[in-house]
Amino acid sequence: MRDPRYDILFEPVTIGPVTTRNRFYQVPHCSGMGHRYARSDAHMRAMKAEGGWGVVSTQETEIHPSSDLTPSNQGRIWDGADVGVFREMTDLIHERGSLAAVQLAHNGLHTANRLSRIAPYAPSDAVVDIDDPVQARGMDKADIREFRRWHRDAAIRAREAGFDIVYVYAGHDMTLLMHFLLSRHNHRTDEYGGSLENRLRLFREVLADTRDAIGDRCALAIRFAVDELMGSAGVERDGEGRDIVAALAEEPDLWDVNLSDWSNDSQSARFSQEGYQEDYTRFVKQVTTKPVVGVGRYTSPDTMVRVIRQGHLDLIGAARPSIADPFLPRKIQEGRIDDIRECIGCNICVAGDNIVAPMRCTQNPTIGEEWRKGWHPEKVPALAGPAAALVVGGGPAGLEAARALAQRGASVIIADAGTEWGGRVSRESRLPGLSSWARVRDWRLGQLRTASNVEMYLSSPLTADDILAYGIAHVAIAVGGRWREDGAGRFHRVPLPFLKNGKIVGVDLLLDQGSVAAGPGPVVIYDDDRYYMGSALAEQLAAAGIDTTYVTPTPLVAAWTVNTLEQARIHRRLLELGVKIRLLSALADRAADSVTIRCVYSGAAEIIPCEVLVPVTARLPSSELWTALQARREEWLDSGLTRVERIGDCLAPGTIAAANYSGHRFARSLGALAETESADAFR
Ligand code: ADP
Ligand code: SF4
Repeated sequence: MRDPRYDILFEPVTIGPVTTRNRFYQVPHCSGMGHRYARSDAHMRAMKAEGGWGVVSTQETEIHPSSDLTPSNQGRIWDGADVGVFREMTDLIHERGSLAAVQLAHNGLHTANRLSRIAPYAPSDAVVDIDDPVQARGMDKADIREFRRWHRDAAIRAREAGFDIVYVYAGHDMTLLMHFLLSRHNHRTDEYGGSLENRLRLFREVLADTRDAIGDRCALAIRFAVDELMGSAGVERDGEGRDIVAALAEEPDLWDVNLSDWSNDSQSARFSQEGYQEDYTRFVKQVTTKPVVGVGRYTSPDTMVRVIRQGHLDLIGAARPSIADPFLPRKIQEGRIDDIRECIGCNICVAGDNIVAPMRCTQNPTIGEEWRKGWHPEKVPALAGPAAALVVGGGPAGLEAARALAQRGASVIIADAGTEWGGRVSRESRLPGLSSWARVRDWRLGQLRTASNVEMYLSSPLTADDILAYGIAHVAIAVGGRWREDGAGRFHRVPLPFLKNGKIVGVDLLLDQGSVAAGPGPVVIYDDDRYYMGSALAEQLAAAGIDTTYVTPTPLVAAWTVNTLEQARIHRRLLELGVKIRLLSALADRAADSVTIRCVYSGAAEIIPCEVLVPVTARLPSSELWTALQARREEWLDSGLTRVERIGDCLAPGTIAAANYSGHRFARSLGALAETESADAFR
């Protein structure tokens, strides 16, 4: 059972009129589900309650059509018709012994109201902060009265929906209440603008309105960003951040404090360590007697205990750690520390919100599938009878397939050709800033090594002969993929024969051997993959002192990392390392010591010194084993093979999250009716 040194984490905490059973607090986080996939969202949150999170919060929840974040899948509590879906959520959370919190939000100039077509609201006339050609109206007194009424009515609906904690949200530079606080947005000359006390006025009024609306049944929480990491141009922990907390110190029942904007709040592991917000939020408890919750990608129970004992926080806030492991509190409670599946800080979950799709997680293949597929993060149905499975390849797909198959009771053999487990995860975790990614491998190895029904073999490249000779009924081929070296990708859809006019070093060689494989340079990295790989290699080479130029046909460095909130930091880091950057440029020609690039719009050419070219464009599935097995398909049944399937990157290269999901899905589908992929299954 529980180690007594973690007892403090299981103490109840009183939050105004309600009491949470422990100090584990799932703070509001987006899910990419929200009002469009409300039932999926409700059951995902309920799973956190089952896993022991004492408080479970919604994501930001629009209070009115004038805060319409279309097409984003946020929560929506516009009127009474929205109450029912939240009632289902709060019932599920309460049945599991937790408190439910709702983050009411009016997004002010952060939204363009694409559906409602209402002119957005702002303290002063301003252009909205997304790229739509839309301006917000500077609110007059009647607008302010209306906004207060909408917020009050939403708080009443939240109480009716069964929430225990109701948020007033001034964070992330995303809500009207924060816009009023910030002098860069608030240029008013009336009693709502100018001095800090004036800029605070609306916040105070809405706090009072909300308190009045929720009465003494619900707690009132403030979510506030104490620092925007933009110096004196924004809120600072030693300036107005502190002044605002001091001014409102005793007004709420709970302070939920963090950094703004979202990219600062949800920093990825590539740019921050566990506890990265402590220096900013530590002061809050010195200023208020109310309980304080904060975040910092906490996954270690020892760190959590330290944070509480040092008087920095009262409640351990978590978004990502609760996504990667909804059962983290229960595992600490049950003394199963080694079973905790730690968040790797990759922000694939965050991308779900940004691409407007249900979130995915690199560590937790079941997140978002709790209701739609009925998947539980901890339980996989036991097999009806004995079964044997062979998994070929021990990357993320193979390891997860083997782990979940073993959990179901199958006798599992997993073999990998290499000398270490983890496949791409092991190799990529050696890139700068990505060491925590090895947790994907390590958690699964930990589970496999304690299972009695698993045999594991390294240095075991299997052939079609081997697989037929084993005669194991269920076979998962999880042999991964290789990076292309011919330049074909999104921009150039066909191979570029001229690349061979000079030396090419492929991504796989660099991953295997590190920067020495590139020699002294100069090196040109051509990134048409658009996610992390091109920039991570550029970072690695430049840090080794190699003259490196990063070329991409897109307008942004590592363009897709906009979705993981890393893009600006990646670009900045490459600049700091002296990497030369050429945007909107495609490959045009190659000589032994140079490469010619062309502007994708004008065609203007530039010749760049280049001894080594690294094409980072796309991957090809490793197909040899599959092809050999296909050629002998008529032997499968006689050899005892009933099912042979490709999973993960050897079916279609993708993210680590996709490989993990693919392995998990294979294990779940063993002995089950074929999973339906009809339209209905996705509603
Ligand atoms: P995925 O992301 O789909 O899990 P990876 O590329 O990470 O794929 O992992 C594939 C693993 O398969 C690598 O560790 C590789 O060594 C292993 N592998 C490749 N071919 C074979 C084979 N014929 N037999 C056993 N293991 C193999
Ligand atoms: Fe953590 Fe990545 Fe999962 Fe998000 S997707 S919870 S950052 S492991």
